[in-house]
Formats: sequence, C-alpha cells, structure tokens
Amino acid sequence: MFIDTHAHLNYPDILSKLDEVLSRAQDAGVEKIIVPATTYQTSLQIAELVQKHDMLYGAVGIHPTELKDFDESHLRGIEELARQSKIVAIGEIGLDYYWEPYDKELQQRILKEQFRIAKQECLPVIIHNRNSTADLMALVKEEYDEGKLKGQFHSFSAGIEEARQCTEMGFCISFTGNITYKPNDSTLLAYEIVKITGIDNLLLETDTPYLPPVPFRGKQNEPSFIKHTAEKIAELKRISVEELGKITTLNARRLYGI
Ligand SMILES: [Zn+2]
Repeated sequence: MFIDTHAHLNYPDILSKLDEVLSRAQDAGVEKIIVPATTYQTSLQIAELVQKHDMLYGAVGIHPTELKDFDESHLRGIEELARQSKIVAIGEIGLDYYWEPYDKELQQRILKEQFRIAKQECLPVIIHNRNSTADLMALVKEEYDEGKLKGQFHSFSAGIEEARQCTEMGFCISFTGNITYKPNDSTLLAYEIVKITGIDNLLLETDTPYLPPVPFRGKQNEPSFIKHTAEKIAELKRISVEELGKITTLNARRLYGI
C-alpha cells in the first residue's frame, strides 16, 4: 500500500537490525523501499544490499555534503553501478549551502555530471536541496532537456512558485515526517504546497533515520512510521489514507519503474 521512496537503511545502527525494521515495515503496509546512497562507497554497499532483499531498491550517487574525498573515478563507478537491475535512480544528489565550508562550484559541477549520467542511463534523479534553491532550479532548468531529466525533489524545502515549476516539468515532490510537526512557518508552507500540487506529482518518504513523524519525535525514524506522514497528507488532500497510498504507490512505480 505504501512505497517509502527515501530511507537510509545502510546506516550502521539500522543495518544491524534490518530484518526487524523490514518486517515492521511490511506489517505497516510498506511494500517497497528505495535506499539512496550518499557516496561512491555507499553506492557500492547499497548495490549489494538490494540484491539480498526483495523489497529494497537502490539509488547510487554522491551527496553534495560528501565531496571531501571526491575522486573523478567515482563518477565512472556510479555510471557503472547505475546499470544494475535493482538500481532505479541516481541519488541522492543536489546542492547544500548549509553545512560550511562548502564549495558551490564543485557541488554544481558534480551535480551536473550526475544529471548527465541519469539522462544517459534513462534513470530518474533524487534531489537534495538545502539553502540552495535558486542555483538548483537554474541547473535543473538548464539540464532539463525537454523532459529527459526527471525525478523527485525529496524533503521539499523550496517555495510555492518552485513547486509549481517542478511539477510543470514533471518532477515529483515529497515531504518527510516534519509535515506532521506543530504548525509553524515551514509546516504551513508545506500544507499550501501539498494542496496546490497535483496528486500525481506526490510521493511518500520517511528520510529514515531522520525527521520522524509525530508521535515518534526523538526516536530513530523507520519506514513503518510512514503512515503518520501519509495521514497528514491525505487530510490535506481530503482523501482517505488508502486512496493516497494507492496513488502515491502508482506514482513511485511509474517514476522508478518498480
Ligand atoms: Zn536523504
């Protein structure tokens, strides 16, 4: 009934109890989970992990905050891994101008290279954005190629106008458990964006182990908690959580070919 499109299940403190986490996810109606990489090393690890578990699919890529040990050979490695059958996306990739020090130029170059790998391999991208909306939107538009670039803006953090532009280009967007938090400026903006976004452009995600939904704040997030985020989004869309689960699952299947 649900697809969790973003869960970092390869982190050591989740990996050590993965069987329990996956069985709780199944009990909660999660049928498939996409595990995004953040480095070349984790891309290799995830490509292997998804071979061992039916319900897992992987994304390979280099995260903008993980460029310290970047080497050009990593891009060739990512390109090769992208051809494996259970690798369904290039991600998580993007821009991050929050964690200092950051190198805007390097981040943009690596993002561009990974957009090109995605287009060449006909795979969608999973996009991360923190304090970098203007540069990111400019790059996405530049590399859009009349729809050859497609994908998901995960943990959406831009504004209403950008949400509109993303969905006009055919991208999907998703929110994490933070949409269930007490209304503040960013929650209220997220409500607005969910309301104006076409339901065919919405996906569900947990961003495990971060941002657990209410009532699990302070705990380690996991895919089985996805229902609480889904309930909030269903309420905003004025449909049942079953209907929302069904539609967002179809959206994820269509985008990622799973
Ligand atoms: Zn993530």
